[in-house]
Amino acid sequence: MGLWSARSVTMPTTWIALDDTDSYEGGCTTWVAYQTIKKFALSLADFPALIRLNPEIPWKTRGNGAVLIIANKCSTDDENIARFILSEAQFGGKTSPGVFITGDKPIGTMWRRALTDVVTPRVLQLELKNLEGRPFCRNGHARGLIGAISAAEHVWDDFTFELISYRETDLPRVEEPRGVLWMDSLTSPLTFLNYDRKANKPLIYPSGPDPVWFGIRGEDPLLLIGAYHLVSNYPENPWMVFKTNQGTNEHIVEKPSIMDAHPYTTVKLTASVEDQPRMIQGGHLLVKLTDLQGNTFEAIAYRQTGELVKKAALLRRGDRIQVWGAIQPKIEKAMNLQGLLFIAGNALERKAPWCPICGHVMEKKGQHEYRCKPCGTTAHDEQTEVIPRPKPESEFLPSASAFKHLMKPYRRRKLDIHYEFNEDAYEGPSKMLNK
Ligand code: ATP
Repeated sequence: MGLWSARSVTMPTTWIALDDTDSYEGGCTTWVAYQTIKKFALSLADFPALIRLNPEIPWKTRGNGAVLIIANKCSTDDENIARFILSEAQFGGKTSPGVFITGDKPIGTMWRRALTDVVTPRVLQLELKNLEGRPFCRNGHARGLIGAISAAEHVWDDFTFELISYRETDLPRVEEPRGVLWMDSLTSPLTFLNYDRKANKPLIYPSGPDPVWFGIRGEDPLLLIGAYHLVSNYPENPWMVFKTNQGTNEHIVEKPSIMDAHPYTTVKLTASVEDQPRMIQGGHLLVKLTDLQGNTFEAIAYRQTGELVKKAALLRRGDRIQVWGAIQPKIEKAMNLQGLLFIAGNALERKAPWCPICGHVMEKKGQHEYRCKPCGTTAHDEQTEVIPRPKPESEFLPSASAFKHLMKPYRRRKLDIHYEFNEDAYEGPSKMLNK
């Protein structure tokens, strides 16, 4: 239930859900939502919601986000609203906008699949049969309805907020790296993924041709408005605060075995390390793992994940870990690593002994036999060395700039924030956007 649900529970509402209104050339579904609210002077009954769906869907434009607006019932006809939204969609290539308008929350299950798996057109058709509400799309291309309906059906568990600020697309994005760093220091830990301190670059600015100027993510909408004024020299620019499922790990499904995981899903598995991790061309790291049912698979930590590659390289044969990542469609039983939790490992490593006569490292000759090349001395015992290992329960994640929207950052994990609102501090959802 939303923040203002208690207030608006007796008032009739209009639920307007939309998706797939943008193309690679421009546009953004959150911007179309902002314009819709303005155009019809909608009185919001709750925060507009930005719901991120399965990040592995190949036909997404950028972050696979769909938007839901819950407004107090307005006199405008549903058809007018839908026509406006569809006319605002930026067409190009695969754009297939969808709008779903209903008077109440649709109770359905498609959203869970849209978040964690692939929804087929048949599943969409079945869902449409069971739901009350009006679907709108263009020229019979209904794919956008998958995201739109899922946004309306979505049931909140953990959540965060994002203040999205917009720009004129023909003007360059003005960036204020020092302002972002300053804002990050002042608002931490209640905002996240603002600045990559290792790479020394702000993370709030997207790079595409869309109308988003920047987005600040965090736990509290009022704090985000304060943060906005620390970063922006153009307070008159349009902005709006969305309630989102970003930073929640909601896309990850725990599985007992790699055999239960299929392409385009993100799964979490408990596994043990089979071999020393192997660096391959391009700086990517391969870690051979065995799940609890004895099935072997490969976890790939891509160079772009930075810190995660460095940490995964420290794994050793026999370590017990939990890993999560996206299942690759092209390589059989392979996972693109998104994070790992170190459970337990062996801190003793067996090594070839030093030669007691001349001090050289001896060479392996048989299963338990070693020989010193310079002086010919032989030995049968390895030496054991205590090596530093991560603490049990240590978690390793990618560098900040490699984060996807749904991935839960350290800042949220460490504090395990579950922000409780003081409803009285807010003047209502309509204050969560500027004029
Ligand atoms: P933006 O972030 O700017 O909103 P986007 O990255 O969200 O763009 P879309 O243009 O919305 O990308 O394209 C995603 C398309 O995929 C939509 O039509 C949506 O309905 C559909 N879709 C989303 N999740 C799934 C899923 N799990 N299975 C099948 N289709 C999906």
